[in-house]
Amino acid sequence: MPRNYDIAELKRLDVAHHLPAQQDYKLIESMGGSRIVTHAEGCYIFDGDGNRILDGMAGLWCVNVGYGRDELADVAAEQMRELPFYNTFFKTVTPPTVLLAEKIAKLTGYRLPHIFFNASGSEANDTVFRMVRHYWKLKGQPKRTVFISRWNAYHGSTVAGVSLGGMTSMHEQGNLPVPGVEHVRQPYWFNEGRDMSPEAFGLVCAKAIEDKILEVGPENVAAFIGEPLQGAGGVIIPPANYWPEVERICRKYGILLVCDEVICGFGRTGNWWGHEAMGVSPDIIAMAKGLSSGYMPISATAVSKEIVDVLKTGGDFVHGFTYSGHPVAAAVALRNIEIMEREHLIERTRNETGPYLAKALATLNDHPLVGETRSVGLIGAVEIVADKVSGARFGGAEGTAGPMVRDLCIENGLMVRGIRDTIVMCPPLIITTEQIDAMISIIRLALDLAAPKLTTA
Ligand SMILES: *Cc1c(COP(=O)(O)O)cnc(C)c1O
Repeated sequence: MPRNYDIAELKRLDVAHHLPAQQDYKLIESMGGSRIVTHAEGCYIFDGDGNRILDGMAGLWCVNVGYGRDELADVAAEQMRELPFYNTFFKTVTPPTVLLAEKIAKLTGYRLPHIFFNASGSEANDTVFRMVRHYWKLKGQPKRTVFISRWNAYHGSTVAGVSLGGMTSMHEQGNLPVPGVEHVRQPYWFNEGRDMSPEAFGLVCAKAIEDKILEVGPENVAAFIGEPLQGAGGVIIPPANYWPEVERICRKYGILLVCDEVICGFGRTGNWWGHEAMGVSPDIIAMAKGLSSGYMPISATAVSKEIVDVLKTGGDFVHGFTYSGHPVAAAVALRNIEIMEREHLIERTRNETGPYLAKALATLNDHPLVGETRSVGLIGAVEIVADKVSGARFGGAEGTAGPMVRDLCIENGLMVRGIRDTIVMCPPLIITTEQIDAMISIIRLALDLAAPKLTTA
């Protein structure tokens, strides 16, 4: 049960001392502090002002098994008592770490049998960055240093994460990207491709990668990295032929294929991995978030045998973190995966709740403000437009309608995110069909409430 917090005092201290992630500090100050989330259960979060909010975002794309899992708390407490910490620097490792590595390898069908642990998704991609360049050097092709990524990709907030990512607002802060990262267009059909069929557009976007490889010189390209579907970029689901074509191009030029599975992994698409949904076989995957359902900070980078065989020729790979393979985080992640298996959450997402969400979202298509709805498994989006035919946005540019509708959703009891003018959702994989109905009716209500404000604005 929640403790009796002094919420007003917490808000005062928040403004005085706490700097939140990815925020406008001045705005938080003017609001008198952030919303204080005190506790959660199942698919609901509760705040200090007495609101119960349906968590349409699974925390931050991560609480796949839902809140309030006593067995995850128990397994953490047991592991803390037995061994709260030990490192993997000293030719040492802990039991949960080894068992989790085997478990993840198995979930890749042992195609990516080697697992490097980190504490966050950003770090998992930093590991990719260093490991890939080191690999090519050892392989006798040291010129292969360039990463190709997409504009509007999200790969984290560290220097390498931001550089690999394609968020220009993030690049502007910190003089990024670092040299050796090239960005190409994203497969965002609704915004950039509606003058052609999704299939034609998929080929155009894949061809942009080949053009970039030829421009940079194939002998200089190390890897292509992409999220199977872009999450933070606005739940951008590529045309079905895009990824197979990307893989074909990477193989043609001998370039490594890296999938950032930080959101798509662990059941989100109704498969264990997003790359399965997209029909490709990467050489490396980065994972985090759903790996522990957010109960502990942990991430992993899964690597092919071919790459590790080359790394074995190089002596020490001088990379790794204090918290690489943290035993408590590993124990929690292992149990989290066991819960997903025991409760058949992947099958349920693929066969029941995922298709149900797609149908429920489609009922919004008749709304005058809705340009498109889309989803895969339990991740979806609603595009808000001023003109359904042209796709024109309110106010002539993106960014007016999205925040307004998002705020109205939250006020009416649903946590969603507004990315530009796209409302995105990514609920816990335990969500019921009744809760999906509730989610969609709150979005419809928010659209109805926003319509008069937007059309007179
Ligand atoms: C969240 C996210 C990251 C970064 O993970 P952090 O744990 O925040 O560092 C990287 N890639 C993708 C696709 C993500 O969604």
